[in-house]
Amino acid sequence: MEYPIISKPNSYDDVLEPNLTNYEKSVQDFDWQEMRNRLNGLPSGGLNLAHEAIDRHVDLGNGSKVAMYWEGSNGEEETYTFNDMKAQSNKFANVLSKLGIQKGDRAFIFMGRVPELYFAFFGILKVGAIAGPLFSAFGPDPVKDRLLDSGAKVLLITPDLRNKISNILPDLPDLEHIVVINKNNRHENPLQDGDVSYEAEMESASADFETVNTQEEDYSIMHYTSGTTGKPKGAVHAHIAALQHMATGKWALDLHDEDIYWCTADPGWVTGTSYGMSAPWTNGVTQVIYEGGFRASDWYQIIQKYKVSVWYTAPTAIRMLMKAGDQIPGRYDLSSLRHMCSVGEPLNPEAVVWGQNVIGMPFHDNWWQTETGAILIANYPVQDIRPGSMGRPIPGVKTAIVDDEGTEVEPGTEGDLAVKPGWPSMFRTYWKNQEMYDSKFKNGWYLTGDRARMDSDGYFWFVGRADDVINTAGHLVGPFEVESALIEHPAVAEAGVIGKPDPVAFEIVKAFVSLHDGFERTDKLRNEIMGFVRSKLAAGVAPREIEFLDSLPKTRSGKIMRRLLKARELGLPEGDTSTLEED
Ligand code: AMP
Repeated sequence: MEYPIISKPNSYDDVLEPNLTNYEKSVQDFDWQEMRNRLNGLPSGGLNLAHEAIDRHVDLGNGSKVAMYWEGSNGEEETYTFNDMKAQSNKFANVLSKLGIQKGDRAFIFMGRVPELYFAFFGILKVGAIAGPLFSAFGPDPVKDRLLDSGAKVLLITPDLRNKISNILPDLPDLEHIVVINKNNRHENPLQDGDVSYEAEMESASADFETVNTQEEDYSIMHYTSGTTGKPKGAVHAHIAALQHMATGKWALDLHDEDIYWCTADPGWVTGTSYGMSAPWTNGVTQVIYEGGFRASDWYQIIQKYKVSVWYTAPTAIRMLMKAGDQIPGRYDLSSLRHMCSVGEPLNPEAVVWGQNVIGMPFHDNWWQTETGAILIANYPVQDIRPGSMGRPIPGVKTAIVDDEGTEVEPGTEGDLAVKPGWPSMFRTYWKNQEMYDSKFKNGWYLTGDRARMDSDGYFWFVGRADDVINTAGHLVGPFEVESALIEHPAVAEAGVIGKPDPVAFEIVKAFVSLHDGFERTDKLRNEIMGFVRSKLAAGVAPREIEFLDSLPKTRSGKIMRRLLKARELGLPEGDTSTLEED
């Protein structure tokens, strides 16, 4: 079905800087250096994301503005101003300094969305350390991989999650300190031997701290992201990324001073840091942080209660809202909403139009990834939307579709989505894996791993991944990680994992498994294997379907042919099978 263009007023005056009057011109004339003047910099001359997001607003006299409305999963309500955020992050920076954490050290955070996560995050940046947020739903294996690879010196954690991963802690030689946050005394006996109590240390810490004089290129944040092969890689970003977070917060999210903003992403993923912390707060905007999970009525209730005006969410969530029913939004007052955006997976045109029809405005899809650090392609507030398209590049960024040689192709042709290196929020390396980093570049382009098309008006349309990485509910899953966990089960001989199309989650993880002799293919065993992988990885990452096969298709060199498994699953042509091992 053809979806008509959703027309918008053709003026940027309201959302872009006053001198950027139209899109074509803004793209042509844009200069990051000029934009750089919008950031303050540290009094000592450097640049630090924490200063730009928090302290700057205090210096500018806006310290009493609310930075965060927090709603806990038990209905607790807390409010923090920029003054509070400054004081709390300073205190935590002092706690870290006392523990000996210094510039360049890695400090990881493994917990759900409580205010202390945010204080700690900015405290880490203030001492010049590199912050590594972890998705709180992870099981022990992904946490261990990430802490080991990064050589994290300190881990911030809640008592529950500490218990969940206690078996991996002895295997982490670089980990010197475990700081336990016992939010609102939720646990009776939160501490174990050697733990540092967040609450006790914060109580005696000073609220004054001079932010370490980090420079634009100093590392700030690392996020692990999955590939087709091997363990996840730590994509490292620099403090200057704040510039692009701020800019895209204006251009794509349409953030204004008086907005109440809500980003539903977890800070364990890059959207939750770039757009759940940096973009709103570098723009001095008030945001809502909701600890609870997804429930359609709860989500609408949050919008109504806090009068959310700008909302940034994800396709799976939108499809779940659609499934929950068109009549539900009508029970809430959603009139505060002005602008809605989506990222993380393909946003189907039906969902864009559903927003328009049921909520009264369309969802604006935008595209980016862990490595790009910030939005690169977007449907803008005042530009026509082509439902199903990711939109057009932001000023200061050149994106293109290239062929196998890295040469730009004609509009309308499918190819690799590529970006000219040099944008501020670009990842600077994969931690301790320069070779992998270098392999992402060809002929002067950064290759994103996505396949796409560009139409003759410069709108980009997502086609799929160029590799075997699975996108389930917006989370990238490396098939290798899941296969490794599967074959640790005593019954599993071989495993091959693919993404199977799903109407809600875009893809689900499906595993094909062959068993060792002596094991029977029963539903009981299937459930047991699923439970085993879930406890090691995370519910969202473990296979939702397991199919038993006698043996898996392999190349002559013994590599499992996931491509073939997928083609067979989808009933598609099997393509080139010349390297297939003969049985
Ligand atoms: P991550 O690095 O985990 O943020 O995942 C990034 C990947 O998610 C991209 O490389 C795409 O494959 C996918 N993705 C993100 N945004 C979109 C979008 N708007 N449309 C289609 N796919 C997207």
